[in-house]
Amino acid sequence: MKATFLGTGTSHGIPMIGCRCAVCQSDKPKNKRRRCSLYIQAGGKHLLFDTPPDLRDQVLTFGVERVDAVFITHPHADHIFGFDDIRRFSDLQNGHIPVYGSPETIAAMRRKFDYVDKQSHSFGGVPRVVFTEMRAPVQVGSAQITPVPVMHGEDIVYGFRIDAEGKGFAYIPDCSGIPEQSFQTLEHLDVMILDGLRPGKHSTHFSIGECVEHLQQIGAKRSFLTHLTHHSDHDALQSSLPAGIEVPWDGLTVF
Ligand SMILES: [Zn+2]
Ligand SMILES: [Zn+2]
Ligand SMILES: [Zn+2]
Repeated sequence: MKATFLGTGTSHGIPMIGCRCAVCQSDKPKNKRRRCSLYIQAGGKHLLFDTPPDLRDQVLTFGVERVDAVFITHPHADHIFGFDDIRRFSDLQNGHIPVYGSPETIAAMRRKFDYVDKQSHSFGGVPRVVFTEMRAPVQVGSAQITPVPVMHGEDIVYGFRIDAEGKGFAYIPDCSGIPEQSFQTLEHLDVMILDGLRPGKHSTHFSIGECVEHLQQIGAKRSFLTHLTHHSDHDALQSSLPAGIEVPWDGLTVF
């Protein structure tokens, strides 16, 4: 199983438009953060987690040429507004691509992308997808994907656990609380990726401190923060973290 971070930034992306702070003006590639997305190759299948506004740039930059299934964590703008570019994959693969999410997320996707479900189109191509409500684990090839409901402010959104080839990865990019039952689905992980927005507290995201605490409780073999803001210079943040907690960057691949 192989995971590629396609984006590790918060909703604005880094650099943030019009910001002159040191991180936004930094030349270091690890301080350039596209909106959050993860690509997993597992059991011969290619899984995409979220379709952010940067999706076209992400797939071109990091060599994504196939998508067998899309999983949407929640319908916030920074996670879905690159969705139309899925049409390139449905064209290339000449077939429909399943798009999974919670019933609430799928209802929101149908509303926001209402042109996708229409029978006839007076304009160009549309993504050929099958919106699919997900309440339980699904199988894609030999990979099993389990929804992990978590709090994101007042909302319940999904993270996902992916099990394939004897390995377990989990991805929770937007989160401010993990209910006990979901915590139990995060046992015995090889890789855990969790929202660690910024040093200060936030009403809908874990702070870096809260994220680290949860990552340590979960105790995966490798632990990563994501959804980072311009408050965090990559190298400075990495050197401030306890051993075993890693700061990813766009394009990083984890096995
Ligand atoms: Zn987000
Ligand atoms: Zn900035
Ligand atoms: Zn969000």
